[in-house]
Amino acid sequence: MTNIALPNNIEKLKAYSSAKSAKLTGTTWLNANESPYARVLEMRFDNLNRYPDPQPQAVIDAYAGYAMVEQANVLMTRGADEGIELLIRTYCEPAKDSIAIFTPTYGMYKVTADTHNIAINELSQAQLANDDVDTLTAAIGDAKLVFVCNPNNPTGAMQPASKVAALADKLKGRAIVVVDEAYIEFCEEKTCVELIKEFSNVVVLRTLSKAFALAGLRVGFMLASEALLAPVRKVIAPYPVSTVVAQIAATALTSDAITQMRRQVSILNLAKKKLIQWLQDSEFVSAILCGEGNFVTLQLTDKQFVVQAMRQGLIMRPFVLFGEDNWLRISIGNEQELKQVENWLKQCQVTEEVL
Ligand SMILES: *Cc1c(COP(=O)(O)O)cnc(C)c1O
Repeated sequence: MTNIALPNNIEKLKAYSSAKSAKLTGTTWLNANESPYARVLEMRFDNLNRYPDPQPQAVIDAYAGYAMVEQANVLMTRGADEGIELLIRTYCEPAKDSIAIFTPTYGMYKVTADTHNIAINELSQAQLANDDVDTLTAAIGDAKLVFVCNPNNPTGAMQPASKVAALADKLKGRAIVVVDEAYIEFCEEKTCVELIKEFSNVVVLRTLSKAFALAGLRVGFMLASEALLAPVRKVIAPYPVSTVVAQIAATALTSDAITQMRRQVSILNLAKKKLIQWLQDSEFVSAILCGEGNFVTLQLTDKQFVVQAMRQGLIMRPFVLFGEDNWLRISIGNEQELKQVENWLKQCQVTEEVL
């Protein structure tokens, strides 16, 4: 105890439990939507006595080319998570402004808002999917940032670009629509990136953590109009990206590496179809949310099956969704990892028969 009083919003915080923070023991990790494809890298550096380029030109060039936007529309961050934080710090005034989110969704929007004393207008995925744009805009109220996770983690739901555009149009001059495209490589053609050219209040968040298989590197990008990015550039740390990170990121964005990433995505998308088939065939799975992304979220008939999986070293991510605690998100791993999921699903059955 330091006896130093904490701000009220900090006092109330619960530590964010990321997929990696829990001290789990396991052999098969399908709980953090990581890629199963690890690359071996060896590199040499002779310039680490110097500060890095604040926005490494080679990486900005390469990502702009890949995303088909101008370099001026790209800001490199420490993961998409830093993008979320920068937007909140730049555009929201503590104890006054709010953000809108559509739950169930990615947990970091709420965590980051809470740490910065920004209120949350919690709307639902059902509203986002079903309400017309006028109704939605009314529900969004005076929120400054509207987070549309697309595809949505953990439901896989996807809003068409036309809907995001209509929303951005209605919110012009009032709010920014943040399209979190952490999983967009798994359904490339559905990107909203074109919207940043038409709407100065749309920002797209990207990452190298998922399809690019570099979660350990901590690299993300914000794609937006120059006008939207200008104040963020004033807020971001002076040297956010280390020389080491920049050099590795550049190797992930060569045309060969992008081709390889796309090949891996097709393999993972195929593997996902197979997994969904197994889940559909299992009598212990009562619902499957199979949308886009390298994960499938499902409801079990009994959450005890998760405990059984853990005992086998198979780590997946349990969720409380729609008020029920028997949901599970499975990341798409390699063939051998998914084989373990298949075996587990069969063993649930065996246990049930014995009982
Ligand atoms: C994984 C994830 C992120 C975080 O990405 P990092 O670049 O690793 O910080 C952001 N948004 C969503 C929806 C995610 O699932």
